[in-house]
Amino acid sequence: MKKPVIHRNYSLKAYNTFGIDVTADRFVEVRTLEDLQTVLTENNDGDIFVLGGGSNLLLTKHVTGLVIFLNLKGIQLLQTSDEYTMVEVAAGEVWHDFVLWTLARNLGGIENLSLIPGSVGAAPIQNIGAYGVELKDVFESCTAISIDGSHTRTFTAADCQFGYRSSVFKLDLKQKYIIVSVQFRLKNKNHLLHTSYGNIQAELDKMHIAKPSIQDISKAVIAIRSSKLPNPKEIGNSGSFFKNPVISQTHFDSLKTAFPDIPGYPNGSNLVKVPAGWLIEKCGFKGIRQGGAGVHDKQALVLVNYGNATGEEILSLAMQIQEKVSKTFNIQITPEVNVYA
Ligand code: FAD
Ligand code: NAP
Repeated sequence: MKKPVIHRNYSLKAYNTFGIDVTADRFVEVRTLEDLQTVLTENNDGDIFVLGGGSNLLLTKHVTGLVIFLNLKGIQLLQTSDEYTMVEVAAGEVWHDFVLWTLARNLGGIENLSLIPGSVGAAPIQNIGAYGVELKDVFESCTAISIDGSHTRTFTAADCQFGYRSSVFKLDLKQKYIIVSVQFRLKNKNHLLHTSYGNIQAELDKMHIAKPSIQDISKAVIAIRSSKLPNPKEIGNSGSFFKNPVISQTHFDSLKTAFPDIPGYPNGSNLVKVPAGWLIEKCGFKGIRQGGAGVHDKQALVLVNYGNATGEEILSLAMQIQEKVSKTFNIQITPEVNVYA
């Protein structure tokens, strides 16, 4: 069998949705588990970077070592009970294609996560979430290979330590395991509909849908997202650049006096989540442009590449935003995007 080809000094421009033009020392596309095992065994110096769809990534410099573009494909039905269907999905499947696959079979649970870019294998990394639903709500387990290729491990939800846009794979086990497949538990019937978040209900009203199906919810989410988020194929971006900060109720109350229109959502006892997009907009960054880097004019949480920005320019803009938000509100916002610097 032919070994996967390792390219040298390979451009990653087409492999990150920011469209940053940097190169990797070495690059390999892997399509089977056997090939992945071979590549890991033969390159066990630890300098490996795993790449899915590159939609949650800011590359600010040349990537050293070996970049593995994980392109494992396949969706497998595991078992079905009266209430649930278990499905195993290979890491390289496109997340939104998988969502459409579930909707075509009337399997419920990830309709609110429609149109999130990227791969299935990366979904557990930050416990992807949108419109009140998170990956962890349907996650059963995932299978991962250690970065040195020495062993395979199954992670349960508890092992993954899922948090708000976070998991053990972003913390203690960062770049230590390669997720090769994810096992989901999806509902066959009695779907739990989440329509109260963001503009979903308003969009359903606009569509004149009183009793929505999971397919209707997906359509509503797709319509909202298409209207306010920049399409990475047209303007480079990585979605929300920062996480929404969670602050104390006391801090929020004091900010409310100075900024009566500040939005906040209760987040556990005595904690409030504040939309970072609002903070950034209030600091005057919405729609601004610095060279090729900018802040999207419809959603201030999204930093964009207007065509020829370097990763450093985008990072510099992000740091200016962090500083101004900190000075104005005494809130430290942190990147959600994985920054390679
Ligand atoms: P990549 O960007 O390729 O990788 C992200 C990180 O995970 C990197 O550190 C990489 O090394 C690591 N990684 C990737 N694959 C694996 C693997 N198989 N095993 C181990 N490590 C791996 N996110 C949300 O949560 N909610 C949203 O609503 C949302 N909306 C977005 C909208 C837009 C327009 C864009 C551009 C992004 C959005 N995102 C959103 C962010 C992004 O789509 C998700 O985080 C997605 O899961 C990233 O997948 P990816 O395959 O592109 O990961
Ligand atoms: P939005 O509806 O304009 O709301 C702004 C923020 O307020 C959101 O970020 C959301 O926080 C929070 N929010 C809204 N309704 C809420 C509720 N009922 N309870 C608690 N928090 C609430 O947001 P948007 O920008 O259009 O995004 C819509 C959804 O898609 C959000 O869930 C967002 O996270 C997700 N999204 C994520 C990315 C990404 O790259 N991570 C990019 C685009 C959209 P949360 O973000 O915590 O949900």
